[in-house]
Amino acid sequence: MTTIAERLQAIQARIHTAESVAGRRQNEVRLLAVSKAQPSALLREAALAGQQIFGENYLQEALDKQADLSDLNIEWHFIGPIQSNKTQAIAQNFSWVHSVDRLKIAERLNAARPGNLPPLQVCIQVNVSNEDSKSGVWPQELNALARAIAELPNLTLRGLMAIPAPTDDISLQHRQFSKVRELYETLRAQGLDESSKFTVSGLDTLSMGMSEDFSAAIAEGATIVRIGSAIFGARPRNFTTENKTEK
Ligand SMILES: *Cc1c(COP(=O)(O)O)cnc(C)c1O
Repeated sequence: MTTIAERLQAIQARIHTAESVAGRRQNEVRLLAVSKAQPSALLREAALAGQQIFGENYLQEALDKQADLSDLNIEWHFIGPIQSNKTQAIAQNFSWVHSVDRLKIAERLNAARPGNLPPLQVCIQVNVSNEDSKSGVWPQELNALARAIAELPNLTLRGLMAIPAPTDDISLQHRQFSKVRELYETLRAQGLDESSKFTVSGLDTLSMGMSEDFSAAIAEGATIVRIGSAIFGARPRNFTTENKTEK
């Protein structure tokens, strides 16, 4: 039986290999441990093995785990679909949100972010390939959304997140991720405009790549990979990537 510590180590090794192959700096890519549907005890095991950042999809489940693990120094990232009535608790209890895809949600997070906390770090979720997905802004709407979010004082726009349609076709994985990267580079280039609040240094995050496709994502420029099942094993219940709606 492999332990969580061993799996984390194996994944870090694969991340380093992908970084080298892509000619990228070592440790440029952060590993976000996606712990939805996993019990607090497993997160604790991962944290004690050195894992510091965890991603959760469901608010109530995440709040329960945060309470269980409050003795640990964990950075929490929210990565699931966001409903309006969840924005206050998300703004209060997370460091990052990867899944902002409309202005109304960004404005509510901004309004609810407590003044004693640093700005909430956000990524815009873009929909590059998944026709059926309800999550993610369409590429043609990205620019306007990014500019509006950049004006919100309690949010810091860090970059883009995407969940391309899953596929075993490695070259298709690359094409999908490279599309996200192009959008990101375009946005960064526009940040050179002096009248804009964007700065090139401000946008530094591409959140893409999961257990089955993270090497391709790293080759195409991912700076955060979101990995669940390869660390924790299969999820106990029928949790999918894009998830049911929370009550
Ligand atoms: C579940 C999930 C992941 C991790 O998926 P795995 O295939 O288990 O690595 C990553 N990102 C999001 C948004 C998810 O919902």
